[in-house]
Amino acid sequence: MDFATRAIHAGQDADPSTGATITPIFQTSTYTQQGLGDNKGFEYSRTHNPTRTALETCLASLENARYGLAFSSGMAATSAVLSVLRPGQHVIAGDDLYGGTYRIFERVLRPMGVDFTYVPAGDVAAYAAAMRPETRMIWLETPTNPLLSLVDIRAVADEAHKRGITVVVDNTFASPYLQKPLDLGADVVTHSTTKYLNGHSDVIGGAVLTSDEQLYQEMKFYQNAAGGVPSPFDSWLVLRGVKTLAVRMRQHCENAMRVAEFLSGHPLVRTVYYPGLASHPDHELAQRQMAGFGGMVSFAFEGTREDVDTFVRHLRLFALAESLGGVESLCCHPASMTHGSIPAEEREKRGVTDTLLRLSVGIEDADDLIADLDQALASVAAKHAAASSEREKAGAATGAR
Ligand SMILES: *Cc1c(COP(=O)(O)O)cnc(C)c1O
Repeated sequence: MDFATRAIHAGQDADPSTGATITPIFQTSTYTQQGLGDNKGFEYSRTHNPTRTALETCLASLENARYGLAFSSGMAATSAVLSVLRPGQHVIAGDDLYGGTYRIFERVLRPMGVDFTYVPAGDVAAYAAAMRPETRMIWLETPTNPLLSLVDIRAVADEAHKRGITVVVDNTFASPYLQKPLDLGADVVTHSTTKYLNGHSDVIGGAVLTSDEQLYQEMKFYQNAAGGVPSPFDSWLVLRGVKTLAVRMRQHCENAMRVAEFLSGHPLVRTVYYPGLASHPDHELAQRQMAGFGGMVSFAFEGTREDVDTFVRHLRLFALAESLGGVESLCCHPASMTHGSIPAEEREKRGVTDTLLRLSVGIEDADDLIADLDQALASVAAKHAAASSEREKAGAATGAR
C-alpha cells in the first residue's frame, strides 16, 4: 500500500469490541484480567495502551520499520535511544544539531561518561576520521537545524557499518513522507512528533522507529522502565494528525519553495537556506535523498539584529514562536530561541548568527504568506529611510551653523 493509504489505515482497523471506525482514546490506566497470567495483552498503560499501540504501528509503517515506540516528547524519544549507551562509549554527531539534543549530550550524557565528537554535518570523511574503537553511535539530523544543509545518510551509514556503529537519524525536519532513513541504511529513526507528524501545534510527543530487534528490545525496556510515554489522548491526536501528513507535506513544500524564491530576490536578504533552490550546495543530494525539499526556510538578513527585531514585530501571519511543522506559519530567531542553550561563540562559529531567521512555512495561501513577509521587510526599509533622512537633516543643521 502507498504511504498516504498507510497513514490513514496502518494500525487502525475498526475497534473489534464496538466497530468504532476511528481508534478510540483508551483512557484507562489498568485492564481487567481474566485469571492469573490470563489477559488480553494489556495490563498497565505505562507498558501498553491500545491507542498508543495504534500510533506506534502506524508510525513504524510510515518509516518502513518493523518496530515503533511512542514517547511523551521528542526528547524522551532521544533519551530512549541514548539509553543504550554505556560509560566509556563515544558518539559522533553533526555539528548543526537541535539545541535540546546538544544539551542532553553535553549536560546529561557527558557527565555520565559518554564522549561526544562534533563534525561538520555534511562532511562524510569527517565522520570516518572521528571513528574510534569505542564509537558506538552516529547521530545525524538532515536537513540540519537551522541551516538546512544535508547529510548523505547512505554514505555515512556505509562507513559506520564497516565498524558496527549504529546510525541514528532524527527525521523530524523531513518527516517520513519526504525521507526514509532506514531505507537509506540508518538503524534507528527518531522524531519529535510535536512537529510535522502531528502537524497542528497542539501536542508534545516523540517516536523511535527501527527494524533492529535487539535495539528495539532495549529501547522498549527503557520506555517502560523510565515511563516517558504519551497519554492516550496525545497518542490519538498524533494519529489523527498523521492521516493528513501526505497532503500537508506536499503543500508545505510548494509554499516553502515560493517563499524561498521570493526571499532570494529581496535586497534586505543576504542568504537564503533552502535545499530546493538550485543554488543550495546540497541541492543535488536533496533531489536524490528526499522526495521533496520540505517546509523549512532559513535566511540571514542584510542588516543588524535591530532590523531583525523590526521585521518580526511587523509580521502579521507568521507568528514569532519556537517549534515548526504545524499548518500555521511560524518564524523563529534561533540565536535567542531554539539555540539559546548553545554558547554564543559556538553558535556563531556554526553560522547561527544574530541575523538568522528560520521560517516554518505553513499551508496557508502562499500569496498571503509572501505578502506578509513583503510588508514586514518593507517596514525595515522604511525605518532605514527614516533614519537616513534624520541623519541628513542633522548633517544639514550642522553645515548651516
Ligand atoms: C523539536 C525537536 C526535537 C525535540 O522534540 P520535543 O518534542 O520538543 O521534545 C528534537 N529534534 C528536532 C529536530 C526537533 O525539531
